[in-house]
Parts: sequence; C-alpha cells; structure tokens
Amino acid sequence: MSTSTAAVAPLVLADVLPDGPPRLAPEVEEALVAAVGREHVLVGADVAGHADPFSFLGEATVVPAGVVLPGNVEEVRAVVRLAGEHRVPLWPVSRGRNYGYGGASPRVPGSVVVDLHRMDAVVEVDDETGYVVVEPGVSFLALAEHLRSTGSSLMPSVPDIGWGSVLGNALERGFGYTSHGDHSAFQCGMEVVLADGTLVRTGMGAKADSTAFALYKGGFGPSVDGLFFQSNLGIVTKIGVWLAPRPESTAVCMLTTPHDDDLAGLVDVLRPLMLEGTIQSNAVIGNAPVVASMVSPRAAWYDGPGLLPESALFAMNAAMGTGRWNARFALYGPASLVEARLDVVRAAVEAALPDASLRVTTYGRDVDPAEVHPADRAQLGIPSTDLIQMAAWRGGTPAHTDFSLVCPPTGADAVRQRDLLRARIQDEGFDYAGGFTLNARHAIALALVAFDRDDPADCARVAALFPALVADASAAGYAPYRSHPAFMDLVADQYDANDSALRRTVGRIKDALDPLGVLAPGKQGIWPGSASSRGGV
Ligand code: ADP
Repeated sequence: MSTSTAAVAPLVLADVLPDGPPRLAPEVEEALVAAVGREHVLVGADVAGHADPFSFLGEATVVPAGVVLPGNVEEVRAVVRLAGEHRVPLWPVSRGRNYGYGGASPRVPGSVVVDLHRMDAVVEVDDETGYVVVEPGVSFLALAEHLRSTGSSLMPSVPDIGWGSVLGNALERGFGYTSHGDHSAFQCGMEVVLADGTLVRTGMGAKADSTAFALYKGGFGPSVDGLFFQSNLGIVTKIGVWLAPRPESTAVCMLTTPHDDDLAGLVDVLRPLMLEGTIQSNAVIGNAPVVASMVSPRAAWYDGPGLLPESALFAMNAAMGTGRWNARFALYGPASLVEARLDVVRAAVEAALPDASLRVTTYGRDVDPAEVHPADRAQLGIPSTDLIQMAAWRGGTPAHTDFSLVCPPTGADAVRQRDLLRARIQDEGFDYAGGFTLNARHAIALALVAFDRDDPADCARVAALFPALVADASAAGYAPYRSHPAFMDLVADQYDANDSALRRTVGRIKDALDPLGVLAPGKQGIWPGSASSRGGV
C-alpha cells in the first residue's frame, strides 16, 4: 500500500511466523511473563478460547500464538514495547466477543492477542452532565449493573448481546437502540497506547488534570480520536461515553406491515420522523425469519428441504403476531412529550401505511427490568444475552456471520438492498433473515447467516457467500462497514476512490506511528511497511 520510509525495518510477517501450528518463541513468552505474570500469559491449548468461535474457514482458521492479559496501562505499554523488540504481531481485543466478525481472532497467525478484559474499571460516572469513563474490560452487562447498583440516573445504550465491551463496541462502530445508540458518535475523550509505548490522551484530555476529558470532543487543534476507530494505530485503554438520563417515560413502538412490498413505505414514513427528532432512537427493522430466529429454531417452522416456504412465513406471523416487516423504535422524555410524539407517529403511520399495525408499550422511569418485555429491553438500555439463540437457527453446532451494508435511508435503497441480499443468500441455499437499522441519515442493511460450524459444506457456502455479496453490493454502489478479518482486504478494496487514496493515506500514518508494524497487521486492510507485499504474507 505504501512504501515505508522509516529507518527501522518493519515487521516481515513471513519471517516471524513459524511453520506449522503457530507457537510463541520461548524468549517472547519469557519476556511477556516477566511483564505481566505467568498466570496472565496463555500459550498452547489455552489459546483455543481466543480463536474464532464461529469460524467457517476450516483448517485455515487463524489461531493466535499466545494471549497476554495486561492488568493496567503500564503493562499494556510494556507489552507493545516487547512486541517491537521481538517483532511479534499483536491483536488487541477488549472482551473479544465480536462474534459474527471473528471473535478475538487475529488477522494473521503467529499474533499474540492482547486481551484487555482484566482492565474492567468504571472509572467515572457523572450523573450531572451524563457521561461515564470506562476501561476496555467493562461489558454492557457490567456497566448496566454498575449504574443500577450505585443508583445512577443514567441509562446505557446496549447492543443485541450484552457481554461485549462498551469500549470495543464503540471502536468497531457498533450500535444500540436508544437515543444514544450510535456508539462511536457518543464517545468523547480517549486514552491510547501507541506502538512505541507513548500514552496519548485526546481532546480536552490532552491537558493534564483536565476537568472536561469526557465533555468536549474538540480541544485545541486537530481531532485524532477517529484514527483509533476500526484501527491498528493504537491500543485504546479508556474512553468517555455520553449516556442519556433514564427518562420519565419510554414508549416502545412495534410497527408491523403485512406485505413484503411495504418495506419502502415503512422506511419512508419513519425517516422524516427521525430527521425531525420525533422518533429519537433508530428503528430496527426485521423480516419474519429474523424475528422468528430470536425466539425459536428454524425447525419449529419448517423441517423440509430447500428454503423456508411462504406457508412457514405465514405461520410465523400468525403465531408471533408479527408482519412481513417489523420495525421497533422508541420515544423518550417526560410523559406529556412522549404522548405528543406518539400522536405525531400515529398520524403519519395511518396516512402512509393504512394496513400496518402499531403496538405501543409505555414504561416508567423505575420499571423493574424483569417486568420489561424481552423484545423491548434494548430500547430501554437493558442488556441481555438472549439473542445468541439466533446462531442456533439452523441447528447443528451454532454459528453465525453477519453482513452489514451501508446505504441511504430511503425506501428505494432498502428495496434494492433487500433484493440483492435476498437473491444471493437464497442462491447459496440460506434463508434471508435480514433487515435494517434505520437512522435519520443512513441505514445499515443486515443479513444474519446462521450455519452449522461443524458442517464443511455449510462453511464452504458461507465462505463463498461473503465475497459474492461484496461484489453484488459494490456493483450497486454499496459497501459493508464491518467484516470478519478474513475479508478485511476484500472490503478495503471496495473503498477505492482516487486509486485508494484513503487507504494509502492511512498506510502512511501507520508507517509513521507503528514503523515496525506490530499492531494488528492487516486490520481493515492496513498492513505494515510495504503494503504491496502485504508484510510478506
Ligand atoms: P467486543 O467484546 O465488544 O465484541 P472486541 O473486544 O472483540 O469487542 O473488539 C472488537 C475489535 O475491536 C477487536 O477485534 C479489535 O480489532 C478492536 N478493539 C477492541 N478493543 C480494542 C482496544 N482497546 N484498542 C484497539 N482496538 C480494539
């Protein structure tokens, strides 16, 4: 990608990777043990838990050479310095629960996973101005518990499965379903360890003893926080996250439509309501199979050969009270404002989608999480792990992979994406279990492909499906925003404007900040040193 001009020789992966199953060199293991303690370095069979739990790559599945678990920032700094000395590639993860996109699995074999889950402090909670500061090991479940048990007035925003890291999810541009659901947008203030061990604080945090680390994104000069999202330029050890106060009233709305053709109307009625601020959350839109997969295996609806028949879709909707397309979103605030917002939503829906049904459940500020309908929890910021069930849709050894395409938030685009995803996914013999997260200015088309990890034919079809979907999407002007490590180069290749000028620019920054190329080589298609040789792999 770019030619290194650094005086030091960058990592040449082919030189450092041993033949056969990757093993950590004894002197590297010794150095890591000296830095963090014996019990915090995993090698041999103990690294299995840090491979991709849902791998479809068979023998090509990437297994790390070792795992190091630093307990504080100083240990992280020591680990990066050692990696430079020994030319060992590192792969940082926060909780390593990025399931569907490779879990904790590194891009290249021979890497040492830097698992940060021991650094799990909620460093600060400020109810007055609505933020928390967290370390990488804080999960959504732990943050929610912390806020409840300390009597905080703040409400977290949580993704579908709550065991992942608040910090890791924000860095990967994950999302939740409240008014603060765009997790990368609500980050403010960051602490990062660079490849040479330098500890950088961004924004206002660049001033020692700043009083506004998590309050003002700017500071004085260029903003560099963005360099560390989906990035291999540093290891993030702390972030500030803005949280909303738990509102007096929350109305969770479920809008269902009877026909497949209602998708465009559904998107086009919701977008203006989001743009004007009447609807404050995103809307998560799912088709009947995706809703069914949240609560049941496929075999409960259809056990025969081939794709789900129409009769199974009707059966699902009759049994679950769902429609062909289902949108869930929420309204927040004082009860009187929520009622007023609801009137506006009802009027818009009645005018545009007369066949649709709108069900509304209203919750008060102090509702007991146990009393909240499981499907409404995410809109109230209540984390759970129930949706891991979706991986078991097809039976066998549960696994899933996700495909996430960015598109404009219009009905026409949604229909185009539905058609291209459905055609290709069904061609490969999988059901189209999909939908969108709709925001005011963009939508993400999501397709969840569940498969049997122990069935080689299933795995081969998944491995073939992703590149085909990328090609179809690219031809239509769309690209994924996130991918399994195995497809990161392919996705990065789609961001090709001006001879891939952005990728080459990030490559130049990579060479400047990490001239040895030890941090997460290959992440998002950014390789150390001369990317034309891809670091020798
Ligand atoms: P989660 O547990 O939230 O699902 P992970 O810990 O698996 O998230 O992180 C997802 C990805 O984000 C990792 O594979 C890594 O590329 C990146 N990442 C996570 N944490 C950090 C961090 N602290 N610093 C730099 N990159 C990180």
